[in-house]
Amino acid sequence: MQTTYKFRLYPTKEQEQKLLWTLNKCRYVYNFLLSELENQKIIDKAQLQEMITDLKRIEPELQKVHSKALQYENYRLFSNLRALSQLKKNGKKVGRLRFKGKQWFKTFTYNQSGFAIMQNQTRYDKLWLSKIGEIPFIMHRDVEGKIKHITIKHYPSGKWYASIIAETNNEIPKTENKGKVGIDLGTINYAYDSNGNHFDNPKHLDKSLKKLRKEQRRLSIKKKGSSNRQKQKIRVARIHEKIANQRNDFLHKLSHYYASNYGYMAVENLNIKGMVRNRYLAKSIMDASWSRFIQMLCYKAERAGCTVVKVEPRGTTQKCSNCGQEVHKELWNRIHKCSCGLEIDRDYNSAMNILKRALESLPLERRESTPVEIEPLLSVEQVWSEKQEAPCDSWE
Ligand SMILES: [Zn+2]
Repeated sequence: MQTTYKFRLYPTKEQEQKLLWTLNKCRYVYNFLLSELENQKIIDKAQLQEMITDLKRIEPELQKVHSKALQYENYRLFSNLRALSQLKKNGKKVGRLRFKGKQWFKTFTYNQSGFAIMQNQTRYDKLWLSKIGEIPFIMHRDVEGKIKHITIKHYPSGKWYASIIAETNNEIPKTENKGKVGIDLGTINYAYDSNGNHFDNPKHLDKSLKKLRKEQRRLSIKKKGSSNRQKQKIRVARIHEKIANQRNDFLHKLSHYYASNYGYMAVENLNIKGMVRNRYLAKSIMDASWSRFIQMLCYKAERAGCTVVKVEPRGTTQKCSNCGQEVHKELWNRIHKCSCGLEIDRDYNSAMNILKRALESLPLERRESTPVEIEPLLSVEQVWSEKQEAPCDSWE
């Protein structure tokens, strides 16, 4: 099992200079390899790899970059190339790989070697990176297993993060005979399930969203090209990052809760619901977070040998889960009150309908073997990098 850990780095001024310098050199090598690739009659990955060695001879200062990090740029180039041809195969109109300007080059990777984690008793732990040094960070979560690679990323806010990918052999235990549950996702209750449990949006996330709206409004009135606008941009970017982190943390816990307690989970199919494009930022973040939640639920369920079924969401709110008749409700009606006597929270009613619908949708023997689909996620980060060429770094 592969796990990604993400930690904020707190480099010293001097280390930050080295990080920026390394980033720039990696970009230089990437662009160099791309230009060499364009000159090649027959594409030859190994030959390009050797060119890095030649280049280092001509430009000895490249020796100051960990050699595996430079080699990784060749890997990155070919990974982009593959992604591009995949898009082409899928009928997408694609251009060619572009040279990367500073704005489009924000990560470099240590593959297999050149790093170490040093745990301290003091406030900061240290991440040692060859040729850069021991960078302070806080290890809020233990890294289990063998580290495969570490990607260093520079965010628009100026912050640095390390994404550590480690591999272990332990899986979520598979348990038989776990219960069934329907989960309704909403804005007031983030999740309400058919057993009556509900989870609110974390308060701090709400707070950050409010703050984002405020700062975004401020950004919109700042004069274009002014240094104040630039500062405000960074402020907004910082809040975006904070929201992404808070949200991911919450979603991991929630999806883990369901995947470890239930064997069969029914959720709304958001593909249909999500077609409506949203003008409101907070709303679009919510939408993205729902599909992210379902995605997490799916992969955690798959590991645990559980089933996730997606149902058509239309009508799940208005229908009575007890007698089946339509009970019209406005958005602000939080209670479902039916003439059959059922009077419960509207989201609770929806959750029961979702479970019902899932159970009705397939014959029993097929229910347990429904393949889990994984949808592409549209996180805040990906929205930002949409204009980039084929993505190559997976970044959780
Ligand atoms: Zn009823």
